[in-house]
Amino acid sequence: MGTTEAESTDQSSEHTTGATTEDISDSLGLDVSESPFSLDLSQDQEDIVEWAHGFAEKVVRPAAEEWDEKEEFPWPVVQEAAKIGMYGFESIAQFFADPSGLSMPLVNEELFWGDAGIGMAIFGTTLAVAGIYSSGTNEQMMEWIPQCFGTEDDVKVAAFCASEPDAGSDVSGYRTTAKYDEAKDEWVLNGQKAWATNGGIANVHVVIATVDRELGSRGHAAFVIPPGTKGCEQGAKVKKHGIRASHTADVHLDDCRIPGSCLLGGKEKLDERLAKAKEGKSSKGQAAMKTFEVSRPTVGAQAVGIARAAYEYALDYAKERETWGRKIIENQSIAFDLANMKTEIDCARLLVHRAAWMGRTGKDFNAAEGSMSKYKAGEVAVWVTERAIQILGGNGYSREFPVERMHRDAKIYTIFEGTSEIQQLVISRAISGIHIK
Ligand SMILES: Cc1cc2nc3c(=O)[nH]c(=O)nc-3n(C[C@H](O)[C@H](O)[C@H](O)COP(=O)(O)OP(=O)(O)OC[C@H]3O[C@@H](n4cnc5c(N)ncnc54)[C@H](O)[C@@H]3O)c2cc1C
Repeated sequence: MGTTEAESTDQSSEHTTGATTEDISDSLGLDVSESPFSLDLSQDQEDIVEWAHGFAEKVVRPAAEEWDEKEEFPWPVVQEAAKIGMYGFESIAQFFADPSGLSMPLVNEELFWGDAGIGMAIFGTTLAVAGIYSSGTNEQMMEWIPQCFGTEDDVKVAAFCASEPDAGSDVSGYRTTAKYDEAKDEWVLNGQKAWATNGGIANVHVVIATVDRELGSRGHAAFVIPPGTKGCEQGAKVKKHGIRASHTADVHLDDCRIPGSCLLGGKEKLDERLAKAKEGKSSKGQAAMKTFEVSRPTVGAQAVGIARAAYEYALDYAKERETWGRKIIENQSIAFDLANMKTEIDCARLLVHRAAWMGRTGKDFNAAEGSMSKYKAGEVAVWVTERAIQILGGNGYSREFPVERMHRDAKIYTIFEGTSEIQQLVISRAISGIHIK
């Protein structure tokens, strides 16, 4: 009597029914431990989360403001990451080895919870590694992937250079050319790459160039530019809105000569692929699509990490800050915002984990679930960080409080690795089977 609906929802089902899930399972003779479906993390995964969180909390977060303000690459932090085994060939191989596919997104969420600019300085190299992994032979992987990271005592980074000033979303528009000099068994690259993470400061650059412009994106090939190659120079460094600790720059390729063996996958395979494309036969389009679907959940996990950081900060703040003699969280508008922020973050994480698991277990991405996860997580990160600013009021808009930086950092997640519009294009094509434009 007299209990409002709002008050009655304050009771857990245990209080209202007097029975726990275990009681109900017992009475039905069900064994709750035998569920074939589980969202529990394994002990190994819990340990990895704790380890990554510790590094993010003790090393990354305290350094975030400094490197964002300086807008410089945080070499000392990357070196520390290498020392604890967070950055390096072995650690990436170990994260990939998790048969559930979850270790990679779990580590990324924690690290980017610490700070996205530094997170990208640590994880930007994996873009180039993914490029080598998806196109290279085993020998090329063994030769180049370790050189992307360097060693614990001599840390290096790598860059993946695909985008150009006039071709980002439109990958068929790349103008950088690669011509084969048969007499010398060398490739000669010419062109300008734009927006390359680690561009110019990298030990190894992975470059996408066109070997036959008439074939559009089917005439592309991936090349490794070895350390110190003449004709591969950094252009203008980009002054950015967010992730400012991460280095982004143009890369100029002027008669850049590389050995024939630097064509990823090898010449024979390339010639076969070009011949097929010329005959109008389908080549590896589906495989390329699958590569993106597999890598996008990791990027989504980074966005989830930023969103979670801003949400946690705003929640704590709302429980402390008082106006009109009460904590601001006691106002429904604030509390509901926080409820929605938490709901959206959990929703994005579930999509990320599903896609990461699908990628690792070889499931077909029939609805472009990898793109879906990155799309949702990017949009959630932008929205949640904006709400966090609102909850902090004037303080939210000040650089003295971290949510302002988190909002700037979040925005890149609706732009790089395929903009939100491109993700929608990919998803709509996958679910309809129609070539939506
Ligand atoms: C900080 C940062 C780091 C980056 N790192 C790298 C990197 O390491 N390597 C690399 O290769 N690239 C990198 N990029 C480039 C990035 O991937 C591109 O900026 C992105 O793909 C968008 O391309 P664009 O900038 O040319 O935009 P455009 O393609 O010109 O798009 C402009 C707008 O038009 C929309 N649009 C375009 N085509 C369509 C369409 N068909 N349907 C609907 N909407 C459309 C887009 O969604 C966007 O809103 C980075 C960019 C930034 C900002």
